[in-house]
Amino acid sequence: MAKQEDVFKKVISHAKEYGYVFQSSEIYDGLSAVYDYAQNGVELKKNIREYWWQAMVQLNDNIVGIDAAIFMHPTTWKASGHVDAFNDPLIDNKDSKKRYRADVLIEDHVAKIEAKIDKEVTKAAKRFGDSFDKKQFLETNQRVLDYQAKADGILKRMGKSLENEDLADVKALIEELGIACPLSGSKNWTDVKQFNLMFGTKLGASADSAMDLYLRPETAQGIFVNFLNVQKTGRMKIPFGIAQTGKAFRNEIVARQFIFRMREFEQMEMQYFIKPGTQQEWYEKWKEKRLKWHLSLGMGEDNYRFHDHEKLAHYADAAADIEFKFPFGFKELEGIHSRTDFDLSQHEEYSGKKLQYFDPEENKSYVPYVLETSIGLDRMFLAVFSNSLKEEELENGTTRTVLKIPAVLAPTKAAVLPLLKRDGLPEVAQKLIDELKWDFNVIYDEKDAVGRRYRRQDAAGTPFCVTVDHQTLEDDTVTIRHRDTMEQQRVKLSEVKEIISKEVDMRYWLQKI
Ligand code: ATP
Repeated sequence: MAKQEDVFKKVISHAKEYGYVFQSSEIYDGLSAVYDYAQNGVELKKNIREYWWQAMVQLNDNIVGIDAAIFMHPTTWKASGHVDAFNDPLIDNKDSKKRYRADVLIEDHVAKIEAKIDKEVTKAAKRFGDSFDKKQFLETNQRVLDYQAKADGILKRMGKSLENEDLADVKALIEELGIACPLSGSKNWTDVKQFNLMFGTKLGASADSAMDLYLRPETAQGIFVNFLNVQKTGRMKIPFGIAQTGKAFRNEIVARQFIFRMREFEQMEMQYFIKPGTQQEWYEKWKEKRLKWHLSLGMGEDNYRFHDHEKLAHYADAAADIEFKFPFGFKELEGIHSRTDFDLSQHEEYSGKKLQYFDPEENKSYVPYVLETSIGLDRMFLAVFSNSLKEEELENGTTRTVLKIPAVLAPTKAAVLPLLKRDGLPEVAQKLIDELKWDFNVIYDEKDAVGRRYRRQDAAGTPFCVTVDHQTLEDDTVTIRHRDTMEQQRVKLSEVKEIISKEVDMRYWLQKI
């Protein structure tokens, strides 16, 4: 089995074993691509949401939040283009009977070509040593240039065919590239068909009068239809933003990657309303701002890259993804889209209501343009979780499993451990818990030898362990052990709260943005 797959399997089993993510309705054998967040997962998810919300809403005085309903008037989805165009191209393999997204099959093929480039780079770096100039190598090495041209050519052709709805050419491309079913190796493909991703449901008691509804496939439309309400009641001046977090639903064709691609998931979206003509400038600014937000968590610059879209969605005039290096390779984590005035103009047309902004500086009304940032909360969860899980070799020859979740996001900030279950140590530990719990999540653990308790907290992702021992009774000091370095420091009981607060406080982390 490929190493990548092993790592990913470990991530999934660790998420279950340590109370982060469970399969939905597991006792009934689960529901495909639907997951439940467990006692630790819910805290991590909440912290990621809060970290996003503070960065977007609290720290920007021209961005406000809303919480729109999941159900929306069905015309919304006609206007937004989702009824007609929210499709994925699907293809079936006739032998294995497995269903795939045609574009994903092609993208995976391209990823293999890109992996060859990476291999060339690694080889060259070894050969040239310190004098290796990666940029120059990428720009001049003929083999690399050939691979890159091939990859670019494939993506361009796919983008064009999808844009022109030329599904026959998408199939032709799959055949020309010799792409086989990853499971069976068969190249016996059906034609490519479009498949609408929205879930339908009904509103109303009786079958005749019931109204067809959709579960929202994105949160953005709840922002667009409320644009004028927020602008007027909040007396917002362009440029301004509206942010929202909430559930979205997509009947994904293929969903085999744990919480990377779910049928019910959560998005964190922000629509920034701007003057027409300024979209390029804001597009660049938001790309930079969002990348900085990611980098502030310290999960490694090399794990992120931008990917500019060849194939633009029906609403966009420019779009890029921030991709993250997941255990199965670089994949989209967040999208930054320049949506023009498409959505507001469409809602004007379908609702018959004006959705315009009167610009006092220009002394005229216009439909604003929109710059969107859209990130999947569950995908961000997977990015954090998979990147944090490490197997470390220790000096004494043993290994430890540690979940190095950035302290600001960790579900539990500290565990308080009495060295022994007697001599008054549990009481002192409990007293410390009673003090700390007002500021952050803490847990008490008295079972097993202290070394084993440290390991348990390492694997659960708790950044600090505070140990109460006999010396505590004499001089009011305790040991704080740091998860990442395993360093221990002796500190005064009265300082514990401040030491931990400093390292888990969002303020400290968000200042890096
Ligand atoms: P993909 O190409 O992976 O299907 P997308 O381009 O359709 O994603 P967007 O419509 O731009 O995604 O949605 C914005 C964000 O929502 C994505 O960057 C991703 O983080 C998240 N997202 C989209 N679909 C899912 C899903 N099925 N499960 C979890 N998160 C998702």
